[in-house]
Amino acid sequence: MAQAFAAGLKSMDYEAVIGLEVHAELLTNSKVFCGCSAKFGAQPNENTCPVCLGMPGALPVLNRRAVEFAIRAGLASRSTVAACSRWARKNYFYPDLPKGYQISQYELPICTGGAIDIDTSAGSKTIRLTRIHMEEDTGKNIHDAHGDSSLVDFNRCGVPLLEIVSEPDIRSSEEAGAYLRKLRTLLQYLEICDGNMEEGSFRCDANVSIRPRGTTPLGTKVEIKNMNSFRNVERAIDHEISRQAAVLRDGGSLVQETRLWDPDREATRSMRSKEFAHDYRYFPEPDLLPLVVSNEWIETVRNALPELPDARRQRFVASYGLPEYDAEVLTARKDVADYFEAAVRAHANAKAVSNWVMGEMLRLIKERHLDAALIIRAWPVLPERLAEMVALVDGGSISGKIAKTVFEAMVKTGKAAPDIVAAQGLTQISDAGEIDAAIDAVLAANPDKVAEYRSGKDKLFGFFVGQVMKATQGKANPQKLNEILKKKLQA
Ligand code: ADP
Ligand code: ZN
Ligand code: MG
Repeated sequence: MAQAFAAGLKSMDYEAVIGLEVHAELLTNSKVFCGCSAKFGAQPNENTCPVCLGMPGALPVLNRRAVEFAIRAGLASRSTVAACSRWARKNYFYPDLPKGYQISQYELPICTGGAIDIDTSAGSKTIRLTRIHMEEDTGKNIHDAHGDSSLVDFNRCGVPLLEIVSEPDIRSSEEAGAYLRKLRTLLQYLEICDGNMEEGSFRCDANVSIRPRGTTPLGTKVEIKNMNSFRNVERAIDHEISRQAAVLRDGGSLVQETRLWDPDREATRSMRSKEFAHDYRYFPEPDLLPLVVSNEWIETVRNALPELPDARRQRFVASYGLPEYDAEVLTARKDVADYFEAAVRAHANAKAVSNWVMGEMLRLIKERHLDAALIIRAWPVLPERLAEMVALVDGGSISGKIAKTVFEAMVKTGKAAPDIVAAQGLTQISDAGEIDAAIDAVLAANPDKVAEYRSGKDKLFGFFVGQVMKATQGKANPQKLNEILKKKLQA
């Protein structure tokens, strides 16, 4: 059905216009305006105090670390960091917001401008950022957990958030996905957000409109919420583009509203007509001073920035001689890139290490459904151990094929490659005499096949190789085996 809609959209020649609002929870130890722990996973309402519960008379005290994280994000995204920004109260009632207002930033956010470069199948493109502002997170309502009542957990109240708002520069779900992945990679490199969409530490609202291709005025936008994976964001956007095109094609008109993505139905449904900024009665927060960031502070943060993903990717190509593709895959996650570099430091065959990391390792990780945020923490093979195994292959001790068996055993047992090779007798046979004997035995057992081969049936060569490998449990050095076998068959 989605395809039929998309075809309809094409024939009417609309283009999609998309702007994303990302909420990123910051990895500070404590909350943004009080000393409560900001860690995920505590007992309900364990991490609360009078400040984050909004008790009368309790006053907020700014966590400087959260500001530092916002500056990092701003600098890494080429934004302008404001010398002075201001806190604002955003007023509304909801049970997960005990104060009745959220402390946010409004007219004067900490960062403005900036851009994120993305790569898509159509090439690279720059998505401009409107702003990055700081705010506090709300609590969490838990519905139907306890009979027909709802529960509320205030642990998340006051956890620092960055809201990163893009300009409406995105034109497709593919670009939206590329932008989100790039942004998440960046925040992970900066070590300011773990980027876990399932746990809600990286959340995205998508604003979608369409307009006749070639025109500039923006169409009526719809905001979509409740997408907890990249895949869902992409599907929700595609679905929304098709829905809007269908409405217009049928002569209807669109209303500005907020819609919820329902992953089970693969559809969006209307939640509320869109609120406007003036509904929130924003006003400057009276309990906090304006946020002043000195040039000195900005420069200190700038000097401490880690190497960023694009730079690291280029360095992987330039200094390890890796193909672009490898560099892209390896640097998409900081922990994977760190792992790769640690292994190469231990054994300097970058391409071989890259093949193992990108191939077997990421494949096994996917198979085991290891949580994306936990990949390296939960991975049993230390980079030095992988390096040691690659060194065994490079030194001719084991064949590439046996290495796969060894690698799987390493993953299962956590043991070192040399120990596994010794214990299971997997050392490659490179000794000519031993290979010689194995070949002789195979040839002697198959005189008719030998005769056929000699009368021109070249294809049988593979059969002999297979038999010798079988006899040696895959341990014969393949090059030596080929050489010797060829000679013997010629005789
Ligand atoms: P709101 O006040 O509803 O939050 P904003 O103007 O602040 O709206 O924009 C929020 C997000 O919506 C931004 O990412 C912006 O790029 C995007 N946006 C604004 N207008 C449109 C539109 N007509 N179509 C698609 N996205 C839009
Ligand atoms: Zn608190
Ligand atoms: Mg807005």
